[in-house]
Amino acid sequence: MNSLLLTGGRVIDPANQLDAIGDILILEGKVAAVARDAARQAPADIERMDVTGFVVCPGLIDLHVHLREPGQTAKETIATGTAAAARGGFTSVVCMPNTSPAIDNAGTVALIRERADKSGVVNVFITGAITKNIAGEELAPIGSLKRAGVVAITDDGHCVQNHELMRRALEYAKMFDLPVMDHCQDYSLVTDGVVHEGYWSTVLGLRGWPAAGEEMIVARNIQLAELTGTHVHCQHLSAAGSVRLIREAKTRGVPVSGEACPHHFVLTDAAIAGSEKFWTTDGKGVFGYTDGPARLPSWPAYDTNFKMNPPLRSAQDREAILEGLVDGTLEILGSDHAPHCDYEKEVEFDYAPFGITGLETEIALSLMQLYHTRRLGLSDCAWEKAR
Ligand SMILES: [Zn+2]
Repeated sequence: MNSLLLTGGRVIDPANQLDAIGDILILEGKVAAVARDAARQAPADIERMDVTGFVVCPGLIDLHVHLREPGQTAKETIATGTAAAARGGFTSVVCMPNTSPAIDNAGTVALIRERADKSGVVNVFITGAITKNIAGEELAPIGSLKRAGVVAITDDGHCVQNHELMRRALEYAKMFDLPVMDHCQDYSLVTDGVVHEGYWSTVLGLRGWPAAGEEMIVARNIQLAELTGTHVHCQHLSAAGSVRLIREAKTRGVPVSGEACPHHFVLTDAAIAGSEKFWTTDGKGVFGYTDGPARLPSWPAYDTNFKMNPPLRSAQDREAILEGLVDGTLEILGSDHAPHCDYEKEVEFDYAPFGITGLETEIALSLMQLYHTRRLGLSDCAWEKAR
């Protein structure tokens, strides 16, 4: 099925400022015409699909995905991860380097490319590590990673704590025209926190992961982006203070960008106590529930599926993330798709690994919180808004 005529869809292409009802003609796997009269240019025997009432848009990209291969294929493989991406509506994913071994050398990049060519069903773009083995001690060979084809560098899952090392990483990255992405977590402030430090961490008796532990590194990244001129992308932001810092830095022209994940703008830490207010406030407006909370989903307390890094935060933080998405401070939606085995999650909260799957729920949750609440239009919801 290399040629196809899609008729009557709402064609949205923010890069070309297009949002109109029209047809799309695909010939030999390439878009040949996008217009009301694309049908006239189509060969008579072409396969047709009526997509009236549907949105037709460029393939969506998820910038933050853990494919777990090589090394942790019990959790996920390139085949299963890209299948989840396709099912979730994505045609491209950017995979993180915290595999085992880490993607800190050209050989591992080549291995993933080969596996993705063989078993992947969507495009796989690869990030390389900032430091060797993501240990935060010694720079990875950034030049040879670039030659091997990485699209950015990040130590995601970990965070480079040494500011001098991070400065040098930014300088090298600039020489090779690579953006740097960062998982913002100050280890000395966060220590072994497992949930947002606040009311619920006290009530539940779980160790707190303070918002300042993220904001501190966001501020560091802004300073270093300003010093070096290298673009720094702050991944999966969760705290109101982080949004404020990035908003302010952008007004000064600092090359920074920010990313938000659905779990941070849908849920709060109250979910961990089994008393998430979302469903009785925003949820009611979205789904039109009128017959009380009986039909609303409820969760057991201490459910480790709510254990994320950075953690689910307060309602004010959630609101700030949403505001940041609406005013363009945060330009990127990413899933932080981070699957684990069920037996790993079925342990005490302290011992469970951080992270959940996200590729298959990302678009629905984003539309629910951003589009159906009229915070953003569909063209604004472009996953590539930053370009
Ligand atoms: Zn991360």
